[in-house]
Amino acid sequence: MKLLTATAYAQGLRVDDFHWAVEGELVTLRAFCDLHLDRPHGRCECGRVFIGLGSYYGTTTAMVRSFPGITEADYRDALRNSLDAQGWDACGADAEATRLIAEVSRLPVGAIVERFVDDLAVRALSDADIGRVPDRR
Ligand SMILES: [Zn+2]
Repeated sequence: MKLLTATAYAQGLRVDDFHWAVEGELVTLRAFCDLHLDRPHGRCECGRVFIGLGSYYGTTTAMVRSFPGITEADYRDALRNSLDAQGWDACGADAEATRLIAEVSRLPVGAIVERFVDDLAVRALSDADIGRVPDRR
């Protein structure tokens, strides 16, 4: 299945870009406050950050990558466990997973996306093999 992952590719096209997450890790969208709702590119990063499920660090760019070995149930578990481990209420995890899976299913593998609050926009298209770990599918 196709999932969103942290990427440093296409960083720097916006002056407020940052990438602290780990390349290739699964990400999700989080909001820590409401300040971003009128100004996603204002002082608060909540409207544009993707959070790594493993590192808990953020990035403003995410790449659609293909994970043939991961099922929807696996992804739901990963998201729920990460939110739980980060101290978030994980009760919305399944709905969040469903929404993200549907959004990402419309995008090509290799698409590099940025976020505007709840919407994803394609910033760049890359070769689908970029970032692939050798000998892994
Ligand atoms: Zn915020």
